Amino acid sequence: MRIIYAGAMRLLRSTDLALRVLMRLAVTGDSSPTTREVAADMDVPYTHAAKVVAELQHLGLITARRGRGGGLALMEAGRTASVGAVVRAFEGDGDVVDCEGSTPCPLNSACRLRGALRRAQEAFFASLDPLTVQDMVAAPTGPLLLGITGAPQLSRASQRSGPNTS
Ligand code: SF4
Repeated sequence: MRIIYAGAMRLLRSTDLALRVLMRLAVTGDSSPTTREVAADMDVPYTHAAKVVAELQHLGLITARRGRGGGLALMEAGRTASVGAVVRAFEGDGDVVDCEGSTPCPLNSACRLRGALRRAQEAFFASLDPLTVQDMVAAPTGPLLLGITGAPQLSRASQRSGPNTS
């Protein structure tokens, strides 16, 4: 269930983790960290990271190769992916309030608030649409990620580009 806190939408934990994994992989240079390494870097349980990695792979944003020399890598589609698109994919198209639940709300059949909240949710997603994963690892985030992960190098693109906030 998603709920509104102080006017801001609270994301599912998996949505934020998906973005963190993408950002982590955006600064890996030529190395291919394992899911376990990414989970450790992001300080999350392996099982949570593995689920998110599987979904990111399914979405065509990352590749995951097994065995010796394997690991995770960000695809170009992942690097240029819109943050809004990733958030939409992980959040789904459910309402921000659970109007049905175990005890359905009595206003359910004719509620103006429901539509207003849906529009607010869409505006929230739309505000993230112009931003890409690559934008999210521009300084200061990219260098900080490098410090956490020990990844060998920041990609040239992330060194030169600033966030696209237009
Ligand atoms: S039907 Fe309207 S008032 Fe009832 S829970 Fe949904 S949004 Fe809230």
